[in-house]
Order: sequence, then C-alpha cells, then structure tokens
Amino acid sequence: MSTRRKFIENITVSAIGLPLLSSSANLFASSTEKYDGPILKIAIMGLGSYGNRVAEAMLNCKKAKLVGVISGTPSKITKWQEKYGIPTKNCYNYDNFDAIKDNDDIDAVYVITPNGLHCEQAIRVAKAGKHVICEKPMGVNAKEGQRMVDACKAANVKLLIGYRMHYEPKTVHVIQMRKNGEFGQPKFFQGQSGFVIGDPTQWRLKKELSGGGAMMDIGIYSINGARYMLGEDPIWVTAQETKTDPVKFKEGIDETIQFQMGFPSGAVANCLSTYNMNNLDRFFMTGSKGWMEMKPSTGYGPIEGRTHKGELNQPHITHQTLQMDGMSELIFDGKQPIVPVDGEEGVKDMKIIDAVFLAAKTGDKVTINL
Ligand code: NDP
Repeated sequence: MSTRRKFIENITVSAIGLPLLSSSANLFASSTEKYDGPILKIAIMGLGSYGNRVAEAMLNCKKAKLVGVISGTPSKITKWQEKYGIPTKNCYNYDNFDAIKDNDDIDAVYVITPNGLHCEQAIRVAKAGKHVICEKPMGVNAKEGQRMVDACKAANVKLLIGYRMHYEPKTVHVIQMRKNGEFGQPKFFQGQSGFVIGDPTQWRLKKELSGGGAMMDIGIYSINGARYMLGEDPIWVTAQETKTDPVKFKEGIDETIQFQMGFPSGAVANCLSTYNMNNLDRFFMTGSKGWMEMKPSTGYGPIEGRTHKGELNQPHITHQTLQMDGMSELIFDGKQPIVPVDGEEGVKDMKIIDAVFLAAKTGDKVTINL
C-alpha cells in the first residue's frame, strides 16, 4: 500500500466521530478533499537526519512540496535528486546558494543544519528574497534570533521556526482546552525533556556548532511547552546545572539543567533538560479546575496523554506533514496556527535560554522581559 493511501485511510478512519477543535485538526479532516490552491515550493538546506525526516513527511503534503536542495555533500544531492525527482537547476551548495534569488521554482528554504550555522544561512536566504523556515533553536542566542527577524523583515520575507508541536493534534486540543478555561487558572507546569546522547564527536557536543548542550536541543521543548500550556511568558528564571562527565560535556555544553520559571499570573514551572537520562519526555499541568499529562509529549509520536476529562484520542498524523501544510497556509493565506511559529516566537525561547544559562552560571534569579 502506498504511503499516501495509508495516510489518507488513517485520516479518514481516525477523523470519524472525533470532536475536531483546532484548525490543524480541520486540516486533516479535509485531507481527502481535492486541493487546487497554491503549493509552497521548498528547498531543504542540510540533508541530515532531520532533513530526511522532513522530506519524507512532505511526500504526504498537499500544500507544500520539496523542489530543491542545498547541501555540502554531492553524493547526498544525487541520492535526493533520484528519490524526490529534483532537477539539477534546483541543487545548490553552501558557496553558491545565494543564486537561489534567480530561481522562481523555489519559494522558501528550510534551514536544517547545525544550530550555530542557522543565523548566517537564514540571513543569506532572506537576502536572496526567499521565505525562511528554520529549525529550532533558531540560533545560538537571542541576539542571533533578533538579527534573523530583522533581516527577514528588511527583505520582506517570512521567518518561521520549525515548531512542529504547534500543529500536533493532541497538543492543539489541550491548548484549546486551556483557552476555553477547562483547566481553570493554570497554576503549575512540569516539563521533562531529555535523552542519553551517544557519539561524543557529534556537532551537538561542539559549542561553535550547537551553541550549548541539551538545553538548545531538547530543553527548548520544555521552555516552549511551558509557554503554550500555561498561555503566558515567564518573567523570571532560576536554574541549577549538574555535570557528571566534563570530558564529554565540555565548557559551554550543558549536560543537565533543572530550571524554574515564574509567570505574571503567579503560575510556576519546574523543568529538567538533560543529555544524560532516558525516558524523559513528559509534560504535566494543573490548574484550578483540571489537569493534563502528556507522555510522550514532544517526540515524533504518537503523542499520548490524558486530562481530568479522560484520554486524549486525537489521531496521530506525521507532525512534519501537518507543519509544512500549515506553514504553506500561513505564507499564502496568513492562516495562523493556535500558537505562533514566527521568528518572534523563536526569539522568546532564545531569550529564556540565555536567561537559564545566566541563572545557572550565577545562581541568581534572572528577570526576563519578553
Ligand atoms: P544532522 O547532523 O543529522 O544533519 C545536519 C546536516 O547539516 C548535515 O547532514 C549536513 O548536511 C549539514 N551541515 C552543514 N554544515 C555542517 C557541519 N559543519 N557539521 C555538520 N553538519 C553540517 O543533524 P540533525 O538533522 O539532527 O539536526 C539539524 C537541525 O535540526 C538542528 O538545528 C536540530 O536542532 C534540528 N532538529 C529538529 C528536530 C525537530 O523535531 N524539530 C529534530 C532533530 C533535529 P549536508 O551534508 O547536506 O550539507
């Protein structure tokens, strides 16, 4: 059975009888309908592990299509050309991709390279007049994030960050419940994000390419999750760092950080980010009227969870398929997801990460103004 057919069947079966509350949920409810609107033509920059996942997911998109690549590895380009039918005129490397400005086949570039390269690459894409989709973390600090926002504004192109959870049906449902007041006043969020990282030579453990350790890579999910689950931005953070292996986790590469955030309403969050423990992918929130728990909460899915009202049973659909169709709708129709995915949203997370690092280093309670 083709992936496409399986996808449509899954949607059709899963969508029957379910109360679909969100715009992304409506997206898959109508996925069997014929679509003849605009299609976002995308080039992926960085053909690594996640780039491959996004490309596969886009095979099932109706509103976005992979049409080009930017890569430093010629053998990967050849493989992708064969697999995805990409013409040679849409293939670039890191030296010549500014020429993309003269290529009308490409509307947007999805930057999926190591974090430390995002900022300069995104700015070059913006200067070439193409929309930028950039993986999280958008850069290695808030200053870089703001430079990216400014460059995209100046070039009059969109800057979107790869926050796939903002399109994930169970997540969207819980956020909608919170917006409807079903949890009452949110009071406490707990986020646990981590895994044991392998190969000590990988770029994720090199400061110049990663910008930091677990916090940049996985802790950011607890930061972003706290904000979309509580529906507020934090005003202070405190943080404590633990390092058991200073050889693997060198200066500037955090292994484990526990951090706390305070919010204007008085709500608080308590989070853990680590590269040294498994089975940590869990969100919990309690409010004055109800609670929610998700585990796994941000992995590739299926996401699982429950609230005081029962199990979450929204269908699993490949996150990146929903994300890329959703981003196409955003770029062409201005249709916003339930939580923003724009550059400003990315800068907020970068400001919080900057504050967490400062708090962990100084031991101080650090005030944030987002
Ligand atoms: P990989 O190492 O698997 O791939 C990165 C790719 O970037 C490489 O394959 C390479 O592609 C290119 N690249 C360019 N310069 C360098 C360099 N100096 N060193 C290493 N690679 C380079 O990483 P991931 O795909 O796992 O991560 C890429 C980005 O995606 C990160 O920002 C990460 O945080 C994000 N990510 C997001 C996820 C999500 O769920 N949203 C999940 C996983 C990652 P080429 O050979 O084609 O040039």
